[in-house]
Amino acid sequence: MTMEPLRHIKPSVRSIAAYTLAARPAAVKLNQNENPYDLPDAVKERVVQKALARPWARYPEFDPRELIEQLAAFAGWRPDGVLAGNGSNELIEALLLVTVGPGTRVVIPEPTFTLYALLTRVLGGETIRVGLGPELEYQPEELRRVRRELSAPLTVVCSPNNPTGGLLAADELARLCEEADGLVAVDEAYHEFSGQSAVPLLARHPNLVVLRTFSKAMALAGLRVGYLLASPEIVREVNKARLPYNLDFFSEAAALAALAEWPVLRANVEKIVGARDDLLHRLYRIPGVRPYPSKANFILLELAEADPRTVFESVYRRGVLVRDVTSYPRLQRCLRVTVGSEAENETFLSALRHALEERRFARA
Ligand SMILES: *Cc1c(COP(=O)(O)O)cnc(C)c1O
Repeated sequence: MTMEPLRHIKPSVRSIAAYTLAARPAAVKLNQNENPYDLPDAVKERVVQKALARPWARYPEFDPRELIEQLAAFAGWRPDGVLAGNGSNELIEALLLVTVGPGTRVVIPEPTFTLYALLTRVLGGETIRVGLGPELEYQPEELRRVRRELSAPLTVVCSPNNPTGGLLAADELARLCEEADGLVAVDEAYHEFSGQSAVPLLARHPNLVVLRTFSKAMALAGLRVGYLLASPEIVREVNKARLPYNLDFFSEAAALAALAEWPVLRANVEKIVGARDDLLHRLYRIPGVRPYPSKANFILLELAEADPRTVFESVYRRGVLVRDVTSYPRLQRCLRVTVGSEAENETFLSALRHALEERRFARA
């Protein structure tokens, strides 16, 4: 008989492309919104020592109690309303697993982080896209209308939004939560750079879910730690879809160390925020470049005339890797650049200027 095992994969899965990122070595890596400032060596050393003092043959704790308590204190929320995960993406998945089935409608802004739609499709759900405004800003009224008209069980907003950098204001978020009891998940992967968080709204909005990560401001992308904050009732349900022992002891120890190191990390965040605003101002002055205002650690750039893929390759030849976001809806003319160290940002600006000049010469 002819074997066709692939016909047993769900059509909704066969029809989508995987979330991938081609690995490209670069001296200046500004493509994944990582933190340019690594944890101090002494802190890493302590984490390694802690790991060496523990048997590796034994499972980690079922519930990482100490981390949960520290996260609760850090975020200003109750411990029974905290769930820790192997990166916040894992918790986004767990949340979708307990809310989305065939035909479930999930409201998301567009453009935004692609994972929400991808996982929704894998689960057989349907995404309802609400476009950002003419300046790529959130359209809270439109979000409220769509959510209300569809009685949407779940709305996912990313604030600050990746890859555009815009915020959904806290009062708008509160109004969104108030209008219907559908869950509202806010992905706060970049909140430390924005000075705004939805956490103070949790006490009044039992349908609000906040997702956070250690991968950006906390400088721990390599160790995969994230957390979810919500009412204890919601946390109890999402926890059912969490895989047992999802957080290994090494990552837990590193997350605890990063929390203890927050004063140092916060100073780095402030440095990055200063560098972002500086970079933004300098980009405004480059003809043919339109940077969008950002409250995160990256900037979206629109190129008026130059082909973004050509510019991408040209800055790459000068050692700078940025993110090509031209495949996102409405961003056909855009690149996204992570705010790096001061030296990295200088290298990027110079590479960008060269790339745009090259183009002028080629045309002349
Ligand atoms: C980087 C990022 C995350 C972080 O995911 P982890 O799994 O915690 O590394 C989450 N959401 C968005 C929108 C991001 O850009």
